[in-house]
Amino acid sequence: MPKILFSHSYFYQLDSKQWKMAEPFPPLMTMTAAGFLRDHGCEVSLFDVGLRENESGLSDILSQFGPDYFVIFDDGFNWLTKMCLTTMREAAFRMQETAHRHGVKVIVCSSDATDHYEKYLDHHADIVIRGEGEMTLKALIDAYENETSLDQVNGIAYRNTSDETLVTPRQAIMTDLDQLPLPAWDLADVDSYRQIWCEAGKTHYLNIATTRGCPYKCNWCAKPIYGQRYNVRSPKKVVDEIEFHLEHHNVDHFWMCDDIFGLKPGWVQEFRNEIEARKLKIYYKIQSRADLLLEEDNIDALVASGLHEVWIGAESGSQKILDAMDKGTTINQIHQSTKLLKQHGVKVGFFIQYGYLNETKQDIELTIAMIKDLQPDSLGISVSYPLPGTKFYEKVQKDLESKANWVDSDDLDMMFQNTYQPSFYRLLHQYTHNVYNRSKSVRLIHEAFSNPLIVRWKHVKSVLKVIYYTPIIIWRNLKLNRLSSS
Ligand code: SF4
Repeated sequence: MPKILFSHSYFYQLDSKQWKMAEPFPPLMTMTAAGFLRDHGCEVSLFDVGLRENESGLSDILSQFGPDYFVIFDDGFNWLTKMCLTTMREAAFRMQETAHRHGVKVIVCSSDATDHYEKYLDHHADIVIRGEGEMTLKALIDAYENETSLDQVNGIAYRNTSDETLVTPRQAIMTDLDQLPLPAWDLADVDSYRQIWCEAGKTHYLNIATTRGCPYKCNWCAKPIYGQRYNVRSPKKVVDEIEFHLEHHNVDHFWMCDDIFGLKPGWVQEFRNEIEARKLKIYYKIQSRADLLLEEDNIDALVASGLHEVWIGAESGSQKILDAMDKGTTINQIHQSTKLLKQHGVKVGFFIQYGYLNETKQDIELTIAMIKDLQPDSLGISVSYPLPGTKFYEKVQKDLESKANWVDSDDLDMMFQNTYQPSFYRLLHQYTHNVYNRSKSVRLIHEAFSNPLIVRWKHVKSVLKVIYYTPIIIWRNLKLNRLSSS
């Protein structure tokens, strides 16, 4: 029976912003691959680096478990892995080298390795799986075990005995996701993950995936694994997984970690019916699009099934910028969906992206006005990040010679020539958060004035916050004006 040691290359501890946030998730796709290979006759184990400081325990586990294969299989459901951060890439290289020293075959499957397979092959990877991994990995292990030729395995890059790189045709994307088993949750230390949430005073969430891929065409969004394809699990299978967690992990809060939840027409309604039929009470958060939320009775069905938070890829308050991104949504849809969600008591988070090509001060002002007007409950701000395979990357590629990847998720470096200099965007990021926090406080003060009977400590704190933020905002605004005109 072939022995496979699985791992992945996202170390929360090496990404200080995410580590401080204290919301780590076990590596879902890695565990799915492990479950799949176990079902196909392999003995599997997991070296989960999610909560580790570094990869130093790898050597011991390689000696103890004695695998034939070491597989770095990134959790593609975790959006952080799609950022292809250099800190994680370097950690992967170090793990590859360690496994190579132990005489174990090294296989890598990730967004970054798909795009940069030569780099991974240069650092002791024997095989890079390009694209969706489970089927390819199974075919690859079969080829090794049966000593058949690797060139018959689709979806891989490797070097032959003459040290030439060979790339085989892409593996077909899996269309029936229900054939996948439950992720191998028995391999994860769920309690250690839970402890981090609880110690930070947060409600513990677990991650569930209901789809793979996304059919939309936002021209900066990299899709090295699925391209434009997407596939969906049946609501029944998803609800089976929810029941499994309710029973085994005592968790009723879930992050549905799809790029876009509820893509397929009618899916959300079926999901709601399944949840209601089994009388389950859960709370979940999703990522979605403003236009999709407004279709059918989606918001009603989402709320009835337990939705309590939505992150919308709002991106910009300027229609010109949304159109330039090929986003396919309108400012009006962002307004409508946000208001409807709030009316239903659902929390709303906005992803905002600054620095898209040709974005001007006026576009930025429209974005800030939209944030102030719609008052999302949370705000995630980033700057445009060119990733290989996108139209956006092609437009700015010539500027990326000195740096093409962020070091960690807080890097936010503007790596290409833009309307304003990188320091402008760094300050804009802080300024927007300040304006957002101040406007939230102002709203609370208004609330207290309109009904003095409800005044609480949070309202008093809001007054202090307004006093604190006002001079900072004035000073940062002056500095932004100086930077934009220099
Ligand atoms: S909707 Fe989201 S996941 Fe889909 S292409 Fe746009 S940014 Fe990417």
